[in-house]
Amino acid sequence: MKTIQCPKGHGPMEQKPLAWSKTFKGVDVDYTAEVFVCPACGLEATTVEAAGRLQRALADAYRAKVGLLTGPEIRDLRESQGFTQVQLAERMNVGIASIKRWETGMIQSKSMDQALRAQLQSRSSADSCTGRRQISLPRIKLVARTFEKLLGKRLLKAGDRFLFLAKYLWYADMLAFRRLGRGLTGASYAALPYGPQLNNYRDLVQTIKAADVETAEPLSEEERRVIGEVVEKFPDERNVFEAAHRERVWREAPPGALIPYACAAELTEI
Ligand SMILES: [Zn+2]
Repeated sequence: MKTIQCPKGHGPMEQKPLAWSKTFKGVDVDYTAEVFVCPACGLEATTVEAAGRLQRALADAYRAKVGLLTGPEIRDLRESQGFTQVQLAERMNVGIASIKRWETGMIQSKSMDQALRAQLQSRSSADSCTGRRQISLPRIKLVARTFEKLLGKRLLKAGDRFLFLAKYLWYADMLAFRRLGRGLTGASYAALPYGPQLNNYRDLVQTIKAADVETAEPLSEEERRVIGEVVEKFPDERNVFEAAHRERVWREAPPGALIPYACAAELTEI
């Protein structure tokens, strides 16, 4: 960490939060920011870094006061939705520089704030558990077959309860959501005692096995890469099973509860 010496020769200055009040764009705002202060003489020093922090704190205090999303709120919402800055920029039809600036202190217009909210807060509760897709059983089968090919083993076995397949599917759906803003299969996953599992898998097992892969929407190159990455990370069924059991999003979910795709941002094993 950087230290700054008091220009009056009192030695190192301390970094401490100071409260400020200011009228900004006609609005009274209170905010705190860390500055360097000499413990001996009380002199405040400004560094470029500290000035940036101060400006961000002011911009965020102002945005909070007038009901605009703050920089940290935009970033957190974006990440919880699984969007990269590039993806959000594309969806809003703005440059990526705008997203970066809004997240770090530039104040967005009211209309841009509404556009941000439309992208970041409009998710229906149903969508939050299906990864912005409609469930497709042929696609579940297609993804399962792709895993089988890459792993060189059968996952869709007779009398199987998808014990391992469900974990592979879960990681692939979650990772796709995180990377591409959308899951692969539209499946919902429940936190069951043996790990994340396809919701209502008992009703689905037979139908998935009987599904016609030819009718599934083909996998894009990016989607194949996601599956490949999951295989590379978990080359053995044991790996994927154990990894899933280490995930906090599964361990902390109430038994039987659906695991929202927004949890993709919190996975630790991939
Ligand atoms: Zn001093």
